[in-house]
Amino acid sequence: MTVRRGEERRVRQRRGQKLPPETKSVARPSRWGNPFKLGSTLDVRPIDRHPEGGLVYGAGALLIVDRPLAVALYRSWLLGTFSDQQIVDALGGYDLACYCEPLTACHAEVLLDVLHRTSKGRWRP
Ligand SMILES: [Zn+2]
Repeated sequence: MTVRRGEERRVRQRRGQKLPPETKSVARPSRWGNPFKLGSTLDVRPIDRHPEGGLVYGAGALLIVDRPLAVALYRSWLLGTFSDQQIVDALGGYDLACYCEPLTACHAEVLLDVLHRTSKGRWRP
């Protein structure tokens, strides 16, 4: 049994708990886990070649200080890595489980945004 498209929800996952069949985990280490861990440091390497020569550098290091930043980085990474269709094929019609506390910023919301946006009638792959 699956969830109606467009009505997928985020649910709480607990260690050692078996998930119901209409639920998929999006926590690490699943393919959909957030690689940008809260409290970790992200190396910002040379990101581009300047058209007049030389490299355009990032800031050096970025500390992931809070959940909204981790989620923002995830959004950028996800949408640059997977197509909407890949996300829908894998997760459409399932509730998404993560270990985060309810009502906190969580990367599952980014996945839900894609699932809900693409469930509208006008969307075509
Ligand atoms: Zn989460």
